[in-house]
Amino acid sequence: MSIIKIEQISKDFGGVRAIDRVDIDVRQGEIFGLIGTNGSGKSTLFNIITGFIAPTTGDIFYKGNSILGMRPDRIVKEGIGIVFQHNSIFPDLSAKENIVTGRHLKTNHDIFGSFFNTKGYWKQKSVQEQKAMDLLELVGIKSESDVLAKNLPHGSQRVLQVAMALASGPELLLLDEPATGMNPEEALNMMDLIRSIQQMGVAVIVVEHNMRVIMGVCTRIAVLNTGIKIAEGTPENVVSNEKVISTYLGKRKINA
Ligand code: ADP
Ligand code: MG
Repeated sequence: MSIIKIEQISKDFGGVRAIDRVDIDVRQGEIFGLIGTNGSGKSTLFNIITGFIAPTTGDIFYKGNSILGMRPDRIVKEGIGIVFQHNSIFPDLSAKENIVTGRHLKTNHDIFGSFFNTKGYWKQKSVQEQKAMDLLELVGIKSESDVLAKNLPHGSQRVLQVAMALASGPELLLLDEPATGMNPEEALNMMDLIRSIQQMGVAVIVVEHNMRVIMGVCTRIAVLNTGIKIAEGTPENVVSNEKVISTYLGKRKINA
């Protein structure tokens, strides 16, 4: 069954077409890869799915219903989480506080509770802190829960953002270059994390240049080139596609 169906999505920035009539259908529980050169429209597509940018044409169906025109906070509540390409942590809060605070901001929960400092609030706060600790354990940085986010190594900052996105309980998670800038060990951990997220029943769309990660975790891949989808299929099919080799893969190392 389809979790998200992207239909004929285009986006014009001024006179430039950044995305051109793209169709993508991702199934429930699937890990779907999205690859392509810089500027091919991958992040723009994520911004459209999450409601930050309105498309010029097309529609998006999440679990069968159109989410076009919904605000980003509503789309989070519908069940779509995102880890942006660029860091979106609170640098002066601890890892644990990043998760609790991020969830408050996204869901607007507990505003009055925290304001009045009620008993109910504290009860809920301890539940939330426990949940935050569980998420930190899942992404492998539980021992760094009290470290200020700005002092965490790059790899830990990235998995913290995955934990923050998981805090709102998504059924679809968008990951924009989660392993970029990571050392090989951190990249392997990211692959394991993506697989455990899938095992929790969450579908994932991952944008990544690290072909080892893409080949290792994805069930299917789509390739964008100047906003046009030029190929889609299993990892094996896509890497042997002539068009993909000449526009993107030619210069890349693939160690599947
Ligand atoms: P990718 O993530 O694949 O590297 P992007 O989606 O970031 O590519 O960008 C696709 C194209 O759209 C690029 O040419 C980029 O310059 C352009 N673009 C992205 N966002 C904007 C914007 N807000 N305003 C104008 N042009 C944009
Ligand atoms: Mg991008």
